Amino acid sequence: MKKVFVTRQIAEEALEILRKNAHVEVHSGDLPSQRDELMEQIKNAHGLVTMLTDRIDAEIISRGEKLVVISNVAVGYDNIDVEAATRRGVYVTNTPGVLDDATADLAFALLLAIARRIPEADSFIRLGLWKGWEPNLLLGSDLRDKTLGIIGLGRIGSEVAKRGKCFKMNVVYYQPQRDPEKETSIGVRYASLEELLSISDYVSLHVPLTSETRGMMGRKEINKMKKTAYLINTSRGPIVNEEALYEALKEERIKGAALDVFAKEPIDLKNPLLKIKNVVITPHIGSATVETRTRMAVLAAENTTKALKNEIPPSLVNPQVLEYRRNPSKM
Ligand code: NAP
Repeated sequence: MKKVFVTRQIAEEALEILRKNAHVEVHSGDLPSQRDELMEQIKNAHGLVTMLTDRIDAEIISRGEKLVVISNVAVGYDNIDVEAATRRGVYVTNTPGVLDDATADLAFALLLAIARRIPEADSFIRLGLWKGWEPNLLLGSDLRDKTLGIIGLGRIGSEVAKRGKCFKMNVVYYQPQRDPEKETSIGVRYASLEELLSISDYVSLHVPLTSETRGMMGRKEINKMKKTAYLINTSRGPIVNEEALYEALKEERIKGAALDVFAKEPIDLKNPLLKIKNVVITPHIGSATVETRTRMAVLAAENTTKALKNEIPPSLVNPQVLEYRRNPSKM
């Protein structure tokens, strides 16, 4: 029987799907699988169900003599050396589409939290500072008629754009390829990155982490933002230069930031961003709802079982692998 190793506890519904098709081992405990464990487990595994915290590099992949599929329980797959997997004929899959609403909800929750100073207001009461209603207490910023700039109008970015429209915002977007169909259906306008940064009151990032997007919100880009603007990041931490962001916030060159993702996770408690009042932070919980995480795990299980049957998995990220699998001599 084929073997599948799952690197963290996932929804039982997903494990049931896997168990119908393979012998399944699940890493126990609350911490991620250690590299040693991955190295050992991959030796006999046909399928590996991974999380974004698992670094699946070329060395680990090279140990997987029987490996057929690496199934990531995430839409991003920057934790996997996809090229190394492809060269060895290993399918790599992700879980797109099933987490768009939950992640867009969190991006919008962060936007509202920073605009209306919700965490600050919550602490204000708990610290016993509330003396009564005041006309100028904890004033925030409107959303209505403000400009929301979406960088990356993909699956999640589009959902954030739709939420922005419901809040009566003007929505602009930037990405390499214009999308005229969405411009009409959602009612958004295309802008260059430079224009988006200079006119947006809220800038929300929804790009994958790639060699092009790493550090794309650097000093130069942050400095193009309005002094009254907020940056929201629910994509991946390394897309923003945190040092530049810290400087801009400290020097009040932008108004605030709301972040779900960080260059280093978990965030170092000495990270100076934690000392800044107008920063709202959450611990990478974009897709963290019971329903969404279950859907993601089930899709990952379906991807795995399809691949084990040598059928094309529904969310294949490396279609080039099919060529390698057809011509094993290329591997
Ligand atoms: P998607 O549908 O593939 O959309 C990505 C968008 O980014 C596309 O519109 C793409 O435009 C654009 N893009 C790519 N390279 C770009 C660049 N250099 N500059 C500007 N735009 C660029 O992906 P998705 O499903 O929406 O997910 C987006 C990302 O969100 C994931 O990769 C993941 O890292 C992150 N995420 C985070 C959480 C969380 O828990 N915080 C949860 C889910 C996802 P083109 O089509 O023109 O290439």
